[in-house]
Amino acid sequence: MAGNRINIDELVRPNIRDLSPYRSARDDFDSGLLLDANENAFGSPFDGSLQLNRYPSPTQDPLRKRVAAFRGVDHENIFLGVGSDEPIDLLIRIFCKPGEDAILITPPTYGMYKVSARINDVAVKSVLLDESLQPDPDAILSKADARTKILFLCSPNNPTGNFLERERMIRLIGQFPGIVVLDEAYIDFSSEKSAAGLVEKYPNLVVLQTLSKSFGMAGVRLGIAIADVAVIRYMMKVKAPYNINKLTADTALQAFDKLGQIQATIEKVIAERKRLAKALSGMKAVRKVFPSDANFLLFRIDDALEVYRELASRGVIIRYRGNEPRCEDCLRVTVGMPEENERFLSTLKQVLP
Ligand code: PMP
Repeated sequence: MAGNRINIDELVRPNIRDLSPYRSARDDFDSGLLLDANENAFGSPFDGSLQLNRYPSPTQDPLRKRVAAFRGVDHENIFLGVGSDEPIDLLIRIFCKPGEDAILITPPTYGMYKVSARINDVAVKSVLLDESLQPDPDAILSKADARTKILFLCSPNNPTGNFLERERMIRLIGQFPGIVVLDEAYIDFSSEKSAAGLVEKYPNLVVLQTLSKSFGMAGVRLGIAIADVAVIRYMMKVKAPYNINKLTADTALQAFDKLGQIQATIEKVIAERKRLAKALSGMKAVRKVFPSDANFLLFRIDDALEVYRELASRGVIIRYRGNEPRCEDCLRVTVGMPEENERFLSTLKQVLP
């Protein structure tokens, strides 16, 4: 397949294309007698090699290299953000003119795409996932026009948990006349492989990943965008100069020395997901347990809202997703530790009639 011949420079908002980015002190020098950045030379209240009184690297090259090696791409194809929510917002700001342009989403899906678009005064077009919870390429492509700058896809999808079929995704990436963001926040729990390698062929593809899920590091706030260098350069240009702080970068680097431990955790989550799915399927009130390639399960249950409230009143907090299209009467539960899942299941049994 030929890839997508889109011209990224033409797609970018002209003010961003012409922008001279802020040049930070640490762009030029990071050692020597550093009296250039109005830092506090007397230090922070904390000792240690991190030197928290100094600004962090604006480009985070060592960490980008580790992430790149992990995903089998070049470090120039990597952007690091404050969670993956930061690249979602940045991409909308880079490609969508407020008050004029639109994004396209495929509900039911992760809520932040719409919120970020609305914050930026960017319109939101929707094409529902079909009944098998897969994107409908014909419907999506016919709804896209020159103003529809970004298509957001999520695989495995939140809140449904299923992965999107690769053939449909590739057709969309190849034919969509704008950027395709493929959010892979949950990819490491999936039997499907990451699409990150496709960025070599498709300049309009941006794959999002995060350390918040499989790495168990939501508190660290590290998100990853993988894309063609043309897109990455724009993201680097627009981001806040020191978006990744030293504590985050250092902790994330250390995590890449613990990949064995992380893999073991992923396997435990998957085993618990299977156990939980089986237990839920055995309950009379549960109408359907959706197949999941993520670290959560969506299930349809009688009186979903009531069940959700009753669980919450007993201190068991899950999410009601019944307001989302195709998720009528559905609840979403995150896979917990074995004893947490037991408590969830036994409380659920108590609240069911
Ligand atoms: N994408 C998806 C699909 C998510 O479910 C989430 C978090 N719930 C995120 C992105 C955001 O993750 P973070 O900002 O923690 O990387």
